[in-house]
Amino acid sequence: MNQHPAIPPGLLRMWREILGGILLFTVACTAGESEGSPDIDYSTGTHLVLLGTGTPNADPDRSGPAVAVVVNGVPYLVDAGPGVVRRAAAAHSMGVEGLRVSNLGHVFITHLHSDHTLGLPDLIFTPWVLERDRPLELFGPTGSRAMVDHIQAAYAGDIGARLDGLEPANPDGYKVNVHEIEPGLIYQDENVKVTALRVTHGSWEDAFAYRFESADRVIVISGDAVPSEAIVEHCAGCDVLVHEVYSQAGFERRDPVWQRYHSSSHTSSVQLAELASRARPQLLVLYHQLFWGTTEEELLAEVKAGYDGAVVSGNDLDVY
Ligand SMILES: [Zn+2]
Ligand SMILES: [Zn+2]
Repeated sequence: MNQHPAIPPGLLRMWREILGGILLFTVACTAGESEGSPDIDYSTGTHLVLLGTGTPNADPDRSGPAVAVVVNGVPYLVDAGPGVVRRAAAAHSMGVEGLRVSNLGHVFITHLHSDHTLGLPDLIFTPWVLERDRPLELFGPTGSRAMVDHIQAAYAGDIGARLDGLEPANPDGYKVNVHEIEPGLIYQDENVKVTALRVTHGSWEDAFAYRFESADRVIVISGDAVPSEAIVEHCAGCDVLVHEVYSQAGFERRDPVWQRYHSSSHTSSVQLAELASRARPQLLVLYHQLFWGTTEEELLAEVKAGYDGAVVSGNDLDVY
């Protein structure tokens, strides 16, 4: 139904094209790549999709930590925070075809804190229900196998009902091939080389950052970590560094008991500015932001006070 009978359809179409052009230009200038633009071909090249930028705080706008590196349409996930599968489905409906839920076949876990792994049962079972027909390939620290074994045991009833009941289910999609890793090159295929970097994160014996190298980009993702030389060395002018951060001003308002924990486990805005100045990424993306009352703009300003490179504060479903 034409709502504007007085305006010729050709003129309307022209206006729409002009407005669309302005919008796309604005998005391209501010957000690197945009949020799921239909004009970007996500089936080739390397695209970074922030699925969850949250922390243990149950922020409804920030799902638990999870990042997707999509290379030639194949998704490689880092971490499985709560909400990971729903966010992948949202990215898919935004136009990132590779994040179709049944395509979620590889995940690289940084460490076994609950905020990074509560989405693991979801990532194991939901894609299977939606017809992923091969096992999930999981790379992670020592302890990953025990965690997966316990999840499989907890859901034995569901697995049995789907395999032996009336629901059509394939025989392999719920399985997980667990690869417990050491630092170094841990995975390679026709799309990516993935290197695990050991980082320090409080009392965790095993915590990793990951470096993804594809034909067109190098992306480093910190996971949870204090400032780490391995990240500086392996970014070394990389295309994108996705790094966790907490607000220095917020930190100063925290209880001393929590200050002791955070300073031994995470990276402050001041420390991140210093680290990024040496790692020199083309783009620094903040994620896993701990604000503690600081606004997003103030957090960015804290980083920019000591760092003159390009930096953005990431939000769920941003694409870079
Ligand atoms: Zn965390
Ligand atoms: Zn952690």
